[in-house]
Amino acid sequence: MGETLLVIDEGTTSTRAMLFAADGTVLGSQSAELTQSYPAPGLVEHDAAEIWGKSLACARAMVEKAGGPDRIAAIGITNQRETIVFWDKLTGEPLAPAIVWQDRRSAEICRKLKEADEEPGVQARTGLLLDPYFSGTKIAWAMANWPQLKEAGDRLALGTIESWLVWKLTANENRGGLHVTDATNASRTLLMGLGSGAWSDGLVDMFDAPRDALPEIVDCAGQFGTTSLFGGEIPICGLAGDQQSATIGQSCLAKGETKATYGTGAFVLTNAGTSPPTSKNRLLATVLWQLNGRRTYALEGSVFVAGSLVQWLRDSVKLIERADETEGLARSVEDNGGVYLVPALAGLGAPWWHPEARAAITGLSFNSGRAHIIRAALEAQAHQSHDLKTAFAADGADWGRLRIDGGMIANDWIAQDLADMLALPVDRPDFTETTALGAAMLAGVGRGLFQDLEAASAMRGKVKTFEPQMPAPTREARLAGWSHAILKVVE
Ligand code: ADP
Repeated sequence: MGETLLVIDEGTTSTRAMLFAADGTVLGSQSAELTQSYPAPGLVEHDAAEIWGKSLACARAMVEKAGGPDRIAAIGITNQRETIVFWDKLTGEPLAPAIVWQDRRSAEICRKLKEADEEPGVQARTGLLLDPYFSGTKIAWAMANWPQLKEAGDRLALGTIESWLVWKLTANENRGGLHVTDATNASRTLLMGLGSGAWSDGLVDMFDAPRDALPEIVDCAGQFGTTSLFGGEIPICGLAGDQQSATIGQSCLAKGETKATYGTGAFVLTNAGTSPPTSKNRLLATVLWQLNGRRTYALEGSVFVAGSLVQWLRDSVKLIERADETEGLARSVEDNGGVYLVPALAGLGAPWWHPEARAAITGLSFNSGRAHIIRAALEAQAHQSHDLKTAFAADGADWGRLRIDGGMIANDWIAQDLADMLALPVDRPDFTETTALGAAMLAGVGRGLFQDLEAASAMRGKVKTFEPQMPAPTREARLAGWSHAILKVVE
């Protein structure tokens, strides 16, 4: 058996292949940008053929780097979630554009279902809310508007991105591919019963999803199939959606353990144990992993604007030239000078869920300068995280410490501010590519290199801890200022 693990980490703006040694060392990485199409306001599409072609090319480069397919023990796949692909089982070609998770075209379908008071029942069964974000309403829209999908009849296949990649990896000229999806990705479709781990007939009907086109729901680790596209057989042994994979990569393996990723947006997941959680505070309940047919669950809170706020300050407002200037600017002033920034540039996500809210900078005076606004932008990360922590606690899943990753937390000031404002130790791993790492861990478990995820978590490596240092009155004053600012935006 080979000794390395090949991960395909398929994201929204790029796809990447990474080669890991079993001790977690990264041996190589190759990525390619993906084209995003915006055919009209609110619509976001991908070309599934491009995703496949570029993912395959990146994977090929890593197989070469490894020294051939024999050197690779297993493939793990992690992917942007909710994005849905439609393809022809006979030709293996896409039948329509892939509808991306950010796409809002099914807002009207959601509105009608909410009007019909379907949301409580949908939330109880799936752990999700009626929002265009999830795949189900995208499928309903596609079946109603793209006649070629109905015309394809029993040739139609649909699935999230990992499902598409597994099909393409396992298909050959004599037969179609393996049609599977893992339980974490399936739990984001609105079609799967969270408790049963199976497609729900009632939900499949509600979203007019073609039953025979759906993949089989499988575990996150196991020997699912093999690919012979790299000049030899390599088994596919790990599958998980990106946020679940990052939670595994952060080794949140026990109930209550929590990770937060601060990238374009911020995503927080808390391991909720082996019973499906119920949120009364508009958090999502989702599958964290499924192994040997048994599911572990997570509560999830998503903040739409995190690092994209820094991008906006750089590209649109031109307050800075580079994202990493923010750290020095934040340190250059003693405090925020009374300035608060509520980054509702695309509405507010959890726990507020105000799609119409718009951003605000409050408390400006002649005394305020560029550094105060930048500091307020960085402080907003901890403020939004604090709101999430409050919602998680109200749902019975308070955080004891927080494991962080994502592009923003290269910024030490943000990491320390999170520790201070959450009044918790905050752990930052030296190796922050936790999404790919989680998929490598699952692939290693599926191939039998590791007995279980606990054994695989040795791949995680060293961690730096930021301890809370802020005096309680300072923290309380900041939180009061933030509450005041956010009320101006959500009222
Ligand atoms: P994604 O995976 O969502 O594409 P990343 O995890 O790569 O995003 O994070 C990139 C984001 O982090 C960008 O929005 C950028 O503005 C922000 N960012 C990067 N470096 C810093 C920094 N030193 N300080 C603050 N924000 C940063």
